[in-house]
Amino acid sequence: MLLATDLDGTFLGGTAADKEQLYSLLQQQKDIQLVFVTGRGIPSVLSLLENNALPRPEYIIGDVGATVTHLPTLTAVEPVQSHIAAKWPGDHVRETLKTVRGLLHQEAHQQYRCSYYYNDSTDIEGAREIAASLQCDLVLSAGKYLDILPAGVNKGFTLKQLLQVLALPHQKVLVAGDSMNDYSMYESGFKGVVVGDSEPELIARTAGMSNVLQAQRAGAGGILEAMSFFPEFGIYL
Ligand SMILES: [Mg+2]
Repeated sequence: MLLATDLDGTFLGGTAADKEQLYSLLQQQKDIQLVFVTGRGIPSVLSLLENNALPRPEYIIGDVGATVTHLPTLTAVEPVQSHIAAKWPGDHVRETLKTVRGLLHQEAHQQYRCSYYYNDSTDIEGAREIAASLQCDLVLSAGKYLDILPAGVNKGFTLKQLLQVLALPHQKVLVAGDSMNDYSMYESGFKGVVVGDSEPELIARTAGMSNVLQAQRAGAGGILEAMSFFPEFGIYL
């Protein structure tokens, strides 16, 4: 199987005991492929991986889906990355969005996307209109993150593209997340887990989706719950 998981609040979340169980399962069962699918940029994921307790993924989909990297060689996965890069309008996106009220720029490293914080004072509709005029999408998540991405690019899109490159069938994939920028992965039809303590809007939007388990336990515990819930993965805990 392939586990495609969000990091913050998901793979990095939950109790210490659940994280230990999940991480050692992944270290032992080498037939489980691991992909991180995160809003973080690659430099931020690499610094997390300096902690040796964290299993190393084979691929990292970063920047909310805007980058995809093969970790052992630290190279971009082609042709997926070039296709995304070609859709990104460029640095003038940030310039153009400067006029929007209440957008606070995130300092983190960003590629082929622009990331902001938002709050009640933010003119989200104004930002959405400008994004659309630049052939970009606006994605809100966790009640505070606002990302501008090339139109149609999101975590689910890039995961599908990566699986095409790997020639891996969808039914062998488990996706895991906890906030609205993970929604595109469930919407893509993958079997998935919405871990405990997820963003309420994600819980509401995935309720009743037959491919999705809404887990009780938070973070890593929710991923373990899902591995036993879907018998097709053949993992018995
Ligand atoms: Mg998260």
